[in-house]
Amino acid sequence: MSSCKFCCKNEAIKNSHEIPLAVWGWLKKTSATGYFRDSIQPNIRRQDGLKSPLLCANCEQKFSKTEDLFIKHYFNKVANYRVPCPDKLIIKPSILACIHIMAWRVLANTYYFSSETNFTKEEFNEIPCFMSKIKKSIDSNDFTQFKVHFIPCTKKVIENLYLPKVKFHFYERSITAEPRIWDNHERLIIFIQIPFSIVIFEVIPNNKDSWIGTHVDESDVLNLDEIKSVPKYVNALVEYFYDHFLQSTTKITSKQLAIIKSDSEKADPNSGSVKSARKSW
Ligand SMILES: [Zn+2]
Repeated sequence: MSSCKFCCKNEAIKNSHEIPLAVWGWLKKTSATGYFRDSIQPNIRRQDGLKSPLLCANCEQKFSKTEDLFIKHYFNKVANYRVPCPDKLIIKPSILACIHIMAWRVLANTYYFSSETNFTKEEFNEIPCFMSKIKKSIDSNDFTQFKVHFIPCTKKVIENLYLPKVKFHFYERSITAEPRIWDNHERLIIFIQIPFSIVIFEVIPNNKDSWIGTHVDESDVLNLDEIKSVPKYVNALVEYFYDHFLQSTTKITSKQLAIIKSDSEKADPNSGSVKSARKSW
């Protein structure tokens, strides 16, 4: 029996997810075959996301309510093929709560279930301390302790930020969540990429980083026109994950390629995904 890593009371269930299930559901719904292909290994068709025995049923249920609000108030507005992303997004506390939950899950999965990490032993041993700080924020509904940066990936925002001009399909349909550490612990962030959004959760912020317009302070409005600057490492990460994506596509067998091609051809013409998938910058 494995206990819940959040409440440490009840037995963990086996299917905790890092990224809300509804995000995977969206990917499935807007894909022609109803299967997922991992952003890093698109040749692996998976019926849902990464799972681990992380949380008990009670904690999962509690978190799923917050995740539902995140989907309703943020994700459905940003990842929408029918209605363009609004210029102003209201970042409610439930949205921040959900990002904190995702960040906690990513760190906990890294600490308890990762077979390999880039952390040194000292860095690795510090993870529980960060997890407990994030847990404290979640338990007390205080989301002022960590900075969260939202980058809704509209073409305009990507252009304004000079983010890499990789195929837009990558911004539109990737799902990734990883802790990243740099420069002898000068900075530790959780990189979360979901369709049409990149979210950076700063665990250890670096004051030299230039963020303009991505963080919501007193006002809860994220104004897309005011998003002007992100640190260069965001570009490096997009390039890193895109390279992995390209490398994995070269390993795809001809049979898998045929399936992908057929996916594209069968995609719902109203969804817009075919058009975007084939469009280059
Ligand atoms: Zn629990």
